[in-house]
Parts: sequence; structure tokens; C-alpha cells
Amino acid sequence: MRFRRLKLSGFKSFVEPAELRIEPGLTGVVGPNGCGKSNLLEAIRWVMGEGSPKSLRGGGMEDVIFAGTATRPPRDFAEVSLLIEHEAGEGGSDLATESEVTRRIERGAGSAYRLDGRDVRQKDVSLLFADAATGAHSPALVSQGRIGAVIAAKPVERRMMLEEAAGISGLHARRKDAEAKLRATEANLQRLDELLSDQE
Ligand code: ATP
Repeated sequence: MRFRRLKLSGFKSFVEPAELRIEPGLTGVVGPNGCGKSNLLEAIRWVMGEGSPKSLRGGGMEDVIFAGTATRPPRDFAEVSLLIEHEAGEGGSDLATESEVTRRIERGAGSAYRLDGRDVRQKDVSLLFADAATGAHSPALVSQGRIGAVIAAKPVERRMMLEEAAGISGLHARRKDAEAKLRATEANLQRLDELLSDQE
């Protein structure tokens, strides 16, 4: 899968419709501080189905909508489209094919996704990218400060990151549940013993 083109409208600082062609090879985005470089990466993660506003530096998902400036009113919606190319041989096709994923959010109405113009679910979009070993949480997308955060992390935090990457953090949650159930069962057994000895 290759990303070919990114279109944004009303997304964070990109109030006017903007279009970026992504050519084969290395793409660099340069510009002064605060011009919106990180917003571009966040737009890619958002259209791929990112569900956490915090990881997009916001308090709520509607924070991705252009919030207005001293001279411009806020927008009511944000929309991002990503044109992707499935290379020949990918997905069982001998020919290269293209598809476009769009995510739109409106104030008070939440997000909606489209794949080539058809309404789809967030899950469908996430699976499309997961099948190509990428997605909103792909370690290939390294946000600003992420490397510093890994270096500065305490050992226990770093271990949590590794466990998440290895897909075993869910096992810890299940173990905690199982331990709580075991403790409750032991308490019940003890109570039962007490009741039985009272009756003897
Ligand atoms: P740096 O080089 O300093 O990291 P950058 O080029 O990566 O900067 P971003 O962090 O992408 O810049 O963009 C920050 C800009 O986006 C700020 O000016 C901020 O006000 C603007 N911005 C973020 N969210 C919104 C929003 N919802 N509405 C309007 N502007 C926004």
C-alpha cells in the first residue's frame, strides 16, 4: 500500500482546502515552527481511524476542527481524504488499484467514514490499514516528542510500552480480574466452612 495524496479541509490549522501529492521516495515537510507540519501527520492518523483525541493533542475529537482565529470564524466540520494505491499483487489483484478513504467530523454529529464514496464503519477503515500492516497506531508513525518520551521513560513505563507492542497488556488485565475472582471465591469458601462448623 502506498499513500498517494492527502486532502484536508477545516482540519486544525488547514482551514482552506489543501491537497498534498505524495510522490514515491522520501517526502520531507519543512516550514517554520507552528506552520502545521505535525498537523499533517495527525491528519493521516485521524483518517486511518485514530479514536483518541489526546493522541492528537486535543481534549475532545471536535478539537480537530478549525477553531477560528482573531480574523476567521471557526468551521463546523473537518474532512480529510487519503488516496491510497494497492500495488500490483496486493489483495489478489494483478493490477495496481486505487481507493480513497475519507473521514469527516461535524460539530455535535461525530465522525463518518467513506471508502470510495460508500459509507463504511471505523472498523472497516482500521481493518483496511491493518491488513497492510499500518494504521493510526503504527510504530512507523513517530510523533514529535515520542522518541524523547521513550528515552526519558521510567523502566516500568518502558516495560509497558514493550508489553503493548508485544500485545500482552491485555493478559495483565485478565490476570488482575482472575486474581480478584480467586480472592472472592476463597472468602466464600471460608464463610462456608464457618457456617458448616456452626451447624455441627
Ligand atoms: P513545530 O515545528 O513547532 O513542531 P509544526 O509545524 O509541527 O510546529 P503544528 O504543531 O502542526 O506545527 O501546528 C500548530 C498550529 O496549529 C498552531 O498554530 C495551532 O494554533 C494550530 N492549530 C491546532 N489545532 C487547531 C485548530 N483546531 N484550529 C486552528 N488552529 C489549530
